[in-house]
Amino acid sequence: MADSPRLGFIGTGNMGRHMARHLLEAGYRMTVHDARRPAAEPLEQAGASWAESPAELAEASDVVFTSLPGPPDVDSVALGDAGVLANLPDGGILVDLSTNSPTAIRKLAAAGAERGIVVLDAPVSGGVFGAETGRLAVMVGGDRAAFDRCKPMLDAIGDHVVYCGDSGAGSATKLVNNMISLSLNILLGEALALGVKAGVDLATLVDVVQSSSGATWKLGNNYPKFLFKGNFEPGFALDLGAKDLRLGTTLAKELGMPLDLANLVEQRFVEAQSRGWGKLHADVVVKLVEERTGVELRM
Ligand code: NAD
Repeated sequence: MADSPRLGFIGTGNMGRHMARHLLEAGYRMTVHDARRPAAEPLEQAGASWAESPAELAEASDVVFTSLPGPPDVDSVALGDAGVLANLPDGGILVDLSTNSPTAIRKLAAAGAERGIVVLDAPVSGGVFGAETGRLAVMVGGDRAAFDRCKPMLDAIGDHVVYCGDSGAGSATKLVNNMISLSLNILLGEALALGVKAGVDLATLVDVVQSSSGATWKLGNNYPKFLFKGNFEPGFALDLGAKDLRLGTTLAKELGMPLDLANLVEQRFVEAQSRGWGKLHADVVVKLVEERTGVELRM
């Protein structure tokens, strides 16, 4: 691989477009592809080249990043004769920034190894705002030497890049994080509704909890921007949250491990999807708690 690798970026949606822009701004040459070309146009205007297909993109790249909704999408661009793995030059690296299944990632890594291609799982946390400002946590699994080669690129998109272990360890770490943050929606919704029903002002509850042992990033950062304003414009879509919970509960089943709370929370997300809320912000799931309790958490 040359000193300055040629990059490819597939999936320039809410997260990908910002991460790709940071890589461009760091001076890397880049080819982009997305199922919807308009999603990539701002990057083309900023100097990236467009590829018509994952194969064309891979042929022009040393390192390919993917930021796609989930496992089927990543498999569809990575595998097969027209996929990234079959068309990257020898020694190439595929870095999957999507929240993916550890099992699916390990299969991709094994398929890549047959061709001399390394696959790293490198899911991110910090939301669209973190992607926009380059302040993401990046959790990486896979070959350590490939991680070291990619670290300068990952430093361009995140401010906390952590090597988590072998293939799948980054994905597993991300699923743990999202199981916690998504489950908090139900707990926080119920607890705050209880406080309001008991006659305490919502702003007072938040102020005290955030300076007490119940403080959470979600209550301090997400809810003031989304739930409390009744703003459910997608940044992190409910469909993606449901997918992450499903990947987490599936991983537990694969490991033969019971999970009480996460399975219940997953069902709440499925219920919210059945209401037609899948494209809205994931925090919209709290509306189910609001309906049950008769308390609207707005300020
Ligand atoms: P998004 O839906 O906004 O973007 C996905 C992009 O992939 C879209 O532009 C879509 O057109 C494109 N795409 C889908 N299938 C494709 C295919 N087969 N070939 C080419 N392009 C294809 O999603 P997002 O919010 O940017 O999330 C991307 C990933 O990052 C997901 O795995 C998500 O779970 C994860 N993530 C999202 C957030 C967030 O706050 N949005 C935070 C952390 C992690």
